[in-house]
Amino acid sequence: TWGKARDELRQTVGKNNFVTWIEPLKLSSLANGVARFEVPTTFFGDWVSRNYSDHIRHQLANHGSPVDRLEFAVTRNAATRPNGTSLEPAETRPAAPARAASNNDDLPGAPLDARFTFDSFVVGKPNELAHAAARRVAEGGPVTFNPLFLYGGVGLGKTHLMHAIAHELQARRPELRVLYLSAEQFMYRFVQALRDRQIMDFKGLFRSVDVLMVDDVQFIAGKDSTQDEFFHTFNALVDQNKQIVISADRAPGEIKDLEERIKSRLQCGLVVDLHPTDYELRLGILQQKAEFYRQQYRDLKLADGVLEFLAHRITTNVRVLEGALTRLFAFASLVGREITLELTQDCLADILRASDRKVTVEEIQRKVAEHYNVRLSDLIGPKRLRSIARPRQIAMYLAKQLTPRSLPEIGRRFGGRDHTTIMHGVRKIEELMATDSQLADDLQMLKRLLQG
Ligand code: ADP
Ligand code: MG
Repeated sequence: TWGKARDELRQTVGKNNFVTWIEPLKLSSLANGVARFEVPTTFFGDWVSRNYSDHIRHQLANHGSPVDRLEFAVTRNAATRPNGTSLEPAETRPAAPARAASNNDDLPGAPLDARFTFDSFVVGKPNELAHAAARRVAEGGPVTFNPLFLYGGVGLGKTHLMHAIAHELQARRPELRVLYLSAEQFMYRFVQALRDRQIMDFKGLFRSVDVLMVDDVQFIAGKDSTQDEFFHTFNALVDQNKQIVISADRAPGEIKDLEERIKSRLQCGLVVDLHPTDYELRLGILQQKAEFYRQQYRDLKLADGVLEFLAHRITTNVRVLEGALTRLFAFASLVGREITLELTQDCLADILRASDRKVTVEEIQRKVAEHYNVRLSDLIGPKRLRSIARPRQIAMYLAKQLTPRSLPEIGRRFGGRDHTTIMHGVRKIEELMATDSQLADDLQMLKRLLQG
């Protein structure tokens, strides 16, 4: 029953919530109207109980096991796995709780994934700065920049780096109180404290840590009292010279509905971004994972060119890349065949299709700006200089060609330009292309770059 109910929950709670909160649940018993689950931490059980009880009971009932009550028990030795040893697809692996240090036991932190260490983090051009900054913080020396603000798109390694910092600090400086949690959990804790009239405890607890790491801080934007509390916590810690590490999906200045004073506070430290992966980094990550699988499945052969093919074709994010490789090895071992390009294409048809030609206008703008060495803000902005206007028209042309966006939609993404302006830009490039072979070549190359 639980298996089926769980599958259903994937749909009803959303994939991210599912992976974080439902997937790690282990049903230990189901009898007398009580469903008992094993969870990695008390906090985890609390959270699931508060947020997903109704969903879970509903689905259990739907699948023939109505229950009155859910219970959550903490498993002391919930599976921690060494780096990357899981065979399940990357998206469905439970985060393994790895807190060993005793100085942190009272902290309401999120479980750390044991696989997210510096050792398992592959460094390349797109993430070298972020990695270096994270390393510095992880040394636990005197605070040199505060906060460290890491930002970047989904699946580029922000959470991985933060967990790596926590692991490293725990190993080097076990006496430090390190608290890692998501902004969502911060809010949850705060709201709970308000409700239970324990706000002083809450404040005390958060102000007692040596290192505070808050993941996905964009989440609290627009949530006024939580923002406020965050701001005070933040200031109190900075005043005490305690290290803070923050992540978000975009730069501080670009987070909508985040108070100005918080933005400027966040910008005071070191702001580094994780750039989208490039081919080399993707290949490096694949090689690392493949090496691991090769040891697992010693008799499995991996044909030349498969990893290169994947690095080339799956450009969306590292999570998808990992999931693809995991599935590939699991499948090949199941059918007992060599991993050839053909097998890869069969086995991963859906993933490959999904990552085909998913170019966005923003990506086009970024690539074009980079290629012509103009600023992104200029490309989108009002300047009429020819050196900017031409790349802008090229970006408009590519947006029209490579994305399903309409002219007005494209116009909106070019600083609110009218659709006729876009039309004009597109025509201009079409015209020029006929005679300017340099331009035609450029466009070819840009297209290839964008489509991967
Ligand atoms: P984010 O928090 O930025 O959305 P994550 O840190 O959760 O991304 O990373 C997604 C997945 O990709 C994780 O399994 C992580 O281990 C892996 N990953 C991302 N970047 C790297 C890297 N440079 N080396 C190895 N694994 C990586
Ligand atoms: Mg993350």
